[in-house]
Amino acid sequence: MDRDEILVWISPKIGKNRRGRTKISLAGPVAAAATGTVRAIRLLAMQRLALFDLDNTLVDRSEAFRRWAVEFCADHELPDGALAWLIATDRDGAVPRDWFFGKVTERFELAAPAEETWRRYRRRMPELVSCRPEVLASLALLRDDGWRVAIVTNGQVDNQLGKIMRTGLDQCVDAWTVSGEVGIRKPAREIFEAAARGCGLDLLGGGWTIGDSPVLDVEGGRAAGLATLWVSRGKEWPAELAPPDRTVTDVVAAVQVPAGSRTVCAAERSRRQRADR
Ligand SMILES: [Mg+2]
Repeated sequence: MDRDEILVWISPKIGKNRRGRTKISLAGPVAAAATGTVRAIRLLAMQRLALFDLDNTLVDRSEAFRRWAVEFCADHELPDGALAWLIATDRDGAVPRDWFFGKVTERFELAAPAEETWRRYRRRMPELVSCRPEVLASLALLRDDGWRVAIVTNGQVDNQLGKIMRTGLDQCVDAWTVSGEVGIRKPAREIFEAAARGCGLDLLGGGWTIGDSPVLDVEGGRAAGLATLWVSRGKEWPAELAPPDRTVTDVVAAVQVPAGSRTVCAAERSRRQRADR
């Protein structure tokens, strides 16, 4: 396929040499993979900023929820089918929590108000999530390579902050932005801006957004002017949405992409940008 132009992002490391002069280094070749004729290659310098989603990206929220649901069914002596109903109704955390706990209270005729059940859930969930050691180690390597790393997550402060602290992620990132704290939810650009600011940067220099949600993380990140990396977890990309710049199945592979983003060819992104003009 012939292309007028492809974009190649580079993330230079800027430092000083022994004489005190500015030294710009690129670790690895700048390369672009494209077939057919390319009439121009445009290099875009991207600052080293990586914004990660939390639930089902850095931590396995699905498994934590399943464990919570098993406990909940046992504690309330719920009938067969309750576990499957809870997991299906949760929709992997996609539905609002106040709605979800309203439904739970109604279906199982709980004596406690929905707010109380929700509060207990938020207290328990941080105890059930885990972040794999290799994920923590990958984030540490990314930061050692000069990247600023932040978590951008929708949710209540106690629940999300509890997860960040208990998993040790607080030690592996520069900043985090929780929607419940700042009053802005993904996919709004402002929440990505707040996370970048927490890293001492702004979005003008670009960066990566990494997450499992096509709408919240990929569409949101794209609208904020960021390169987008989808953690698919084995799912199919929704055909009705413009594709992400990169797709990986697992977050460990995702952490390695920004480090290699100097060589990322974003031909598809370029094509979309031209189409938008
Ligand atoms: Mg997520």
